[in-house]
Amino acid sequence: MTKMIESLYRVMPHWVKNLMVSVYGLKDHIKGNGKYYLLYYQQLSKLQTNGHSNIEAYQKNRLKTLLQESMQYSTYYKKLFDTQNINQVDISAGSANKILNKLPYLEKENLRQYNREICSADKSRPAVGIIHTSGTTGAPMSIEYDSQSKQGTKAEWRRYYDWMGLPKKFKSVRFSGRIIVDPNTKKAPFWVYNIVNKQLFMSTYHLSEDNISSYIEKLNHYKPEFLDGYPSAFHILAQYILANNIKLKFKPLAISTTAETLFDHHRVTIEKAFGCKVYNQYASSEGAPWIVECKLGVPHLWIDTGVFEFIDQSDNHDGTVNSELVVTSFRNFKTPLIRYRIGDVICRYKDEKKKCACGSSYPMIKSIIGRQDDILFTKDKGHIGRLDPAYKGLTGIRQSKIIQKTIDTIDVLIVADKNFTAEIGKKLLQNIHDRVGVNVSITLLKVDSIPLGKNGKFKSVERQFKLESKEL
Ligand SMILES: [Zn+2]
Repeated sequence: MTKMIESLYRVMPHWVKNLMVSVYGLKDHIKGNGKYYLLYYQQLSKLQTNGHSNIEAYQKNRLKTLLQESMQYSTYYKKLFDTQNINQVDISAGSANKILNKLPYLEKENLRQYNREICSADKSRPAVGIIHTSGTTGAPMSIEYDSQSKQGTKAEWRRYYDWMGLPKKFKSVRFSGRIIVDPNTKKAPFWVYNIVNKQLFMSTYHLSEDNISSYIEKLNHYKPEFLDGYPSAFHILAQYILANNIKLKFKPLAISTTAETLFDHHRVTIEKAFGCKVYNQYASSEGAPWIVECKLGVPHLWIDTGVFEFIDQSDNHDGTVNSELVVTSFRNFKTPLIRYRIGDVICRYKDEKKKCACGSSYPMIKSIIGRQDDILFTKDKGHIGRLDPAYKGLTGIRQSKIIQKTIDTIDVLIVADKNFTAEIGKKLLQNIHDRVGVNVSITLLKVDSIPLGKNGKFKSVERQFKLESKEL
């Protein structure tokens, strides 16, 4: 929606909101459907059963096409290729991966600043839409996409639905950071309905104790077959369902989480409350290649949607290493992302050939850790990986957030319930000390609530200071 339509939407009565969301949904549905969607979906479906070497061959081909197109139609990349003395013949004849390695990383700031030059000027790829997102500094960024990218994304989603065992059509619910009803409203409905895609959008901003029962009532009435969105929203609902012994009147086929770090103990709570599997998925609004979990809960790199490179950060001495992701994406040829430092950190196996028991040909990684800017760093331990094991087995904590304020001070905010004891608090502090080292002062603070961050996302870990370049 444009800014003007968005402001108009906010003041409309609820039934007009439903109508506007449905019209928008219809337009989006039309944009995503077409010949390319069908062709690409068939290709992707076949590819995943074709074995690793065929997927790799496909990846090389796509990379070659991306490099050729970017050189021809993007003034930004043309300049980079020229600087490296690379021409079209080199790309056609040489190894695409070797050529890729010669190019510098694309930093977020460059993507924002040189957005126009990065965009492809290919006349056969007119822009059909723009995604507005924000960079690390909060500065807005616009990502244009063409019709093929839109249809391609829809095909990738469809393959993801297949991974989760969803039928061709289904009723769904989405919890995202969009403001869909007035943030100050105290009364339901806290949702709007897109009749075209049978999709109910539920607000993540109104999930207070007073409102949760109306959410549950609506869900019981609507009976979704699939839910997706922020894990923190599902965790709040799941805790309420379990604490109040509520039996839901529906059993979804799957829940998909994204955009925030999914903690292992939150996954357990959500799966128990909703009675279905949770799949965690990684992609970004900028159009990064996909990381998708299989039925065994193992994240796989969909290398047919892009190239993943890693900047290693810290060895975990257990066969895994924490690495910053650098991505080259095949998902949007209109705004090509080549060696993009997206700012996320994952934990990967040093043995890159390690096979998942699910039998998938896509490489597996251990886990997605989170935003590079929020990875804690201490003098004793360096970069700290996932902190959710610190909560393992502890009860009485409804919500929590770990904030590193300086190199040697950490605040742990917790929203406690009646089961919380001083002993549990002590154990939590001990568990965090085990991970960050003993020379860090940790303060436990009990609070009534923890506010949501930008785009309604819940940040479970936050580092409030910048690292010196030697520590990066
Ligand atoms: Zn697997």
